Amino acid sequence: MSISLIGSGIGESATLKLNETFSILKAKGEPVIHLGGGEPKSMAPFDAITTAAGLLNSGEIRYAPVDGTIEMKQAIIRYTADFYNKIVDPENVIASSGAKQAIMVAMQAILNPQDEVIFMAPYYVSYPEMVKLCGAIPVPVYAENGTFYPTIKDVTQNITSYTKLIIINSPNNPTGVVYSAKFIKEVVELCEEKGIYLLMDDIYHRLIFDNVKVANPYDYVKKDLENSKLIVINGVSKQYAMTGFRIGWAVANKVLIKVMSNIQGHQTSGPSIVLQKAAIGAMNGIQSYVESLRLTLENNRNVLVQYLKTIDGVKVVVPQGTFYSFVDFSAYNKNSTQLSKLLLDKVRVLAVPGVEFGGEGFLRISFCGSIKDITEGIERIKWVIDPDSSNELFIGQRKLVRDWK
Ligand code: PMP
Repeated sequence: MSISLIGSGIGESATLKLNETFSILKAKGEPVIHLGGGEPKSMAPFDAITTAAGLLNSGEIRYAPVDGTIEMKQAIIRYTADFYNKIVDPENVIASSGAKQAIMVAMQAILNPQDEVIFMAPYYVSYPEMVKLCGAIPVPVYAENGTFYPTIKDVTQNITSYTKLIIINSPNNPTGVVYSAKFIKEVVELCEEKGIYLLMDDIYHRLIFDNVKVANPYDYVKKDLENSKLIVINGVSKQYAMTGFRIGWAVANKVLIKVMSNIQGHQTSGPSIVLQKAAIGAMNGIQSYVESLRLTLENNRNVLVQYLKTIDGVKVVVPQGTFYSFVDFSAYNKNSTQLSKLLLDKVRVLAVPGVEFGGEGFLRISFCGSIKDITEGIERIKWVIDPDSSNELFIGQRKLVRDWK
C-alpha cells in the first residue's frame, strides 16, 4: 500500500488510544481505573443542553457560516472582552470544531514546509503531529535548569531563521504549570521583535488553583490587533465539560482569520450549528458552573498530591491549573511506556506515558475523575511499584498476588 509521507509520519494520539483501551476493558467488566483521561466527568451545563435542544426541536438543522454563526461570534467577542479585556470585531474570530481544529487551521494558514514551530516541553501530545501535518518541523524547548519552566533564554536559543510560530499552553497540559507573567511578556516581546506568530492555547485558563493568575498576552502586545501576529485559542471542552460538543475558537487579525476560514470551509464547512448552539448556551448561561468545576478539580488535585506524597521517591510539581499532574516515576522505572503497561497489566490503572509529552520517566496522571478513582488508583500504583508492598491486593473479589520485584 502506498501511504503519503506526511500520513505515514503521524502517530496515533496516545491519549485518545487510552480512552479506547478503557472502554474495551470496561465493557469486559474489568475493574479498570482511568487516570489518563482528558475530560471532566461533570454533566454538560443545563443551559447548553436546553439551547441546543431548542434548535434540534425546530428540525431546521442546516449548514452554518464557515467561521461560526453571528450569535456564536457574539459569544466569543463577549468572552474576549470579559476574560482578556479586549474588544474585537466579528471578523477577528473563527469558531471551529474544537480548539484542536482552530489550532490546526491556524497552523495551515501560516506554516510552509520546513518552517519551525517552537513549543514548551513537556507539551500537548498533538502539537508535534499537527506541525508535521503541515510539513513543518516541531521544536520542543526544554528548560535548561530541568524544571517545567523554560526561560526566555531557552526559547531564544532555539530560534532560527525558520522559526515561524511559538506556542504557549498555560496552564500547561501535561504539567499543570502556569507560566509567569514575566515569561509571557518576554515571549510576546520576542515574537513582536522577530515577527514570529504567537499562539496562546488558553483552553485551561479558567481551571486554575491557589489564586494564581494566568497572564493576559494582550497586556503586552504593542502592535494593534490587525498588525499583531498573536492568536488566542479557547473552547468549551474543558471549562464547561463539553469535550464531545467539539467547539473551540481562535481570535486573531482579520487577514489571518479569513485565510483560516477559507481553509476550514474546505475541511468541515464549519462547526455544526447544533453544537454551536450548545456552546452559546453554556457561554451565555450560569457561570457558577465553571467555578464549581474548578473547586472540584482543586480539591481533587489536593487529594492526589497528598496520596502521591505517600510513595517514596515519586516527585510531583503541584499543578496550578488543568486537571493533570506530571509525575516523576524515574526512581522506579525510567521507561514510561513500560511502566504504563505494567500498571495496566497488573492493576488495571491507566496513566499516559510521559514520553508522549516529551518527558520520559514521567506519567501523566489526571485528576478529573472521582476522588475514589484517584485514591484507589494511586493505592494500586503504589502496590505495584513499591517493593515493600504486601504480597496481596484485593480489587473487589479479585485477589492479586505480587509476583514481580
Ligand atoms: N489544547 C490542549 C492543550 C488540550 O489539552 C486540548 C484537549 N486535550 C486541546 C487543545 C483540544 O481541545 P478541544 O477539545 O477543544 O479540541
